[in-house]
Amino acid sequence: MEQSVLFFCVKCNQLKTMEQAGILFRTGYYRVLYPLGCCVQCEHLSRAI
Ligand SMILES: [Zn+2]
Repeated sequence: MEQSVLFFCVKCNQLKTMEQAGILFRTGYYRVLYPLGCCVQCEHLSRAI
């Protein structure tokens, strides 16, 4: 199932593929199906400050 390789980025509020995942949270899920996380782009932005 393709949906299993997606996660929900809490910063840009979009579903993204696991390949773009910078951080994955183990505590929360978006609509049960998708783990919450933060994509590499958002993680990079937050670190650049
Ligand atoms: Zn993001």
